[in-house]
This record gives sequence, structure tokens and C-alpha cells, in this order.
Amino acid sequence: MAQLELDHLTKVFDDDGTDIIAVDDVTIEIEDGEFLVLVGPSGCGKSTTLRMVAGLETVTSGDIHLGGKTITKQRPQERDIAMVFQSYALYPHMSVRQNMSFGLEESTDMTQDDIDDRVTRAGELLGIPELLERKPGELSGGQQQRVALGRAIVREPEVFLMDEPLSNLDAKLRSEMRTELQRLQEDLDTTTMYVTHDQTEAMTMGDRIAVLNDGELQQVGTPLECYHEPANKFVAGFIGEPSMNFFELDVDGDELVGDDFTYALSPDTKETLGGAASVTLGIRPEDIELVGDAEGDHDFAATIDVVEPMGNENSVYLGFSADTEDTFVATVGGMKQVEAGEEVTVRFPEEAIHLFDTTTGEALKNRSLELTEPNV
Ligand code: ATP
Repeated sequence: MAQLELDHLTKVFDDDGTDIIAVDDVTIEIEDGEFLVLVGPSGCGKSTTLRMVAGLETVTSGDIHLGGKTITKQRPQERDIAMVFQSYALYPHMSVRQNMSFGLEESTDMTQDDIDDRVTRAGELLGIPELLERKPGELSGGQQQRVALGRAIVREPEVFLMDEPLSNLDAKLRSEMRTELQRLQEDLDTTTMYVTHDQTEAMTMGDRIAVLNDGELQQVGTPLECYHEPANKFVAGFIGEPSMNFFELDVDGDELVGDDFTYALSPDTKETLGGAASVTLGIRPEDIELVGDAEGDHDFAATIDVVEPMGNENSVYLGFSADTEDTFVATVGGMKQVEAGEEVTVRFPEEAIHLFDTTTGEALKNRSLELTEPNV
């Protein structure tokens, strides 16, 4: 086990004379035994980052350190790193046992007995001891994924790299495997870097998550830090489902003024704005309240456009006018009676709002966490 450090890592591809900056000056320290999830939209540079760490892609500038040693120029087989891919990449003509032992036979001088022991233990750990003599074609997708994991585990590497390993599985299996992978990582305590575009995986699996956009690192933090204290509008919008709602407003004295509503600011909130002339107000769907009548200057009339019942809660899409296509979303309890066409009052409590500089996207104010209910 070891600490993995990405030190100003940059990758520029040459696409017929045009530079594509796939990874732009990314610095992340992944602690010994930590599970770090690298998350971001398609094309943001996640796989390229992982491939550089694995040694499958050259580094344009910057360094990679593993356990304090610089490995930037080492060949993949010299790095004590095992990678698990989205496509399980199993050899179809080999049994599960052979698939798992093949790498050890090729790259170590371990005895066959020791290799067999390791494979058997990995099979037990992954809950597939009875499948070791089968061929990959005789396994379900979830079982094949376990074999791919097993092949990485038997190497007992310093680091696991996982590139969207669950994306070929159906939703239920994916959720089961998420829990299992976390349990496995706790048992093995191996430093892990896990790539996904799925913010739910990032939120539920990572000790910390690193959010990437356009090759640039946006924030590294615990899932709850990224959720409640996003560094900028991109992170705020990417983490959370349904996404945070955003409204662009102008600053006018002690008020934020938009086309649809005017939002009064307390002196404390006003102070967070610095000199910004226009800000984006962000509010999470669960923080929007549907109240009886308008009582204060954070309450606004709205019309319900669509209600999506989820069982435990309803996603309620609302507009400030009946015929607008510009809707925002609130989540309310599943038992609450809400209907399309209904006119309601929405409240954006001041302690729950986020404010971002509209030009830079930088967070000026994040929601207050003081009112969070105690954990009884
Ligand atoms: P996805 O989630 O879709 O896999 P990603 O975040 O993993 O995306 P990368 O595969 O790392 O993104 O790609 C980052 C950027 O680099 C993209 O714009 C991609 O088109 C570009 N890119 C990747 N590989 C190459 C290559 N070999 N040559 C040129 N450009 C490349």
C-alpha cells in the first residue's frame, strides 16, 4: 500500500496539428488506503488521467509519485498497479482460475501452489469460489466483473485503478456491486483510484471525490463537502440528482433582481458578494419549500408544470409563469398532494441558498449547515 501523488499532471494530444489539452495541470494526493473517485462528464480527461497513472499513456508534463518514488517514466509492468477496465477483458478460452492466475504466472516467480492459494482466496473474497473452473462465457455480467476484479486482487498491488468498472451492469446489480466494492476495499485497504461519470457512484463510494471538467480539477473533497460546499457552479450542478437549480440575477443594492423574482438579502449575505455585479443563485430541489401563502420576501408565486412521483418523494417541476419552458425543480415528500397546473408559493430560504459569481462561476456563499438536523 502506498500514497499516490499526481503532481501537476498534464496531457496534450496532437490531433493533426491541433493541440487537445486532455488533462490540464492536475494535482491530487491520494492517501495510503484511500478510495478516491475521479468524476466528471464525458471527455473531461478521466480515463486519460488513469491511463497515465497506469503507464498506458505518456505524460506531457508533471509527475506521478507512488510511495514517495517517481514512477512517471516507468513502463506499465514496472509499476505496482493493477487496473480494472469497463470491458472485463477476460480471455474467453481460459477458465476463471486461469484468467486470474495468468498474470502471476507470467510476471512473477511464485510457485504454482502459491498462485493457486491466492486465486482460491480471491475467489472466496469475491463470493465466486464455485465458479473458478468455468469459462467467462458461462458467467453473468456481474460474475465476469468479479473475475476482472479478482485478477487485479491476486496481484496484491500497491494501487488499484478502476475505469468505470460497473457501467456494463444493470442498475440493481450496479448498486449491489457498489456496496461490495466498498466492503472489499475496506478489507484490502488498498489505495484506489476509481473513474466514473456517475455522480451517484462518486457520492456513495468515495472517501473523497475529485471533480474534473475540461481537463481541469474543480474540487477535491469528501462527498458531503462537494455537495454542500461546492467550490464553483460546475461542481454544484454536477453533484446531486436532480441537479441544483440556478437563477441568474443582477445585484441592486440589498436585492438580487431577475426577470421572475426579486430576492432580498440580509446584510451578512450581501457581504459575501464582494463587488460582484451579477450573481447566480443556486438552490437544491430539497431546499425549496412549498408553503401556503406568501409571507416574506423569499416567497414567490409559481405554477406546477409536471409532477414526477418517485414513491418516496415527488419531483415537482415548476415555472414562474404558467406557459414557461424555463422550469425549476423541487422535491417534496411522496405523500404530499401536488398536481400539475396547481398554483403554489415556493420559498427559497436564505440559509439554504448558494451564490456564485456569474462570470467566474466561483462560489461566493454556500448554504449554511448550522440548521442541519441533529443525528438522533
Ligand atoms: P469518457 O467518460 O467519455 O470516457 P473521459 O473523461 O475519460 O471521457 P478521456 O477519454 O480522458 O475523457 O478524453 C479526454 C479528451 O482527450 C477528449 O477530448 C478526447 O477526445 C481526447 N482524447 C483522448 N484520447 C485521445 C487520443 N488518443 N488522441 C486525441 N485525443 C484524445
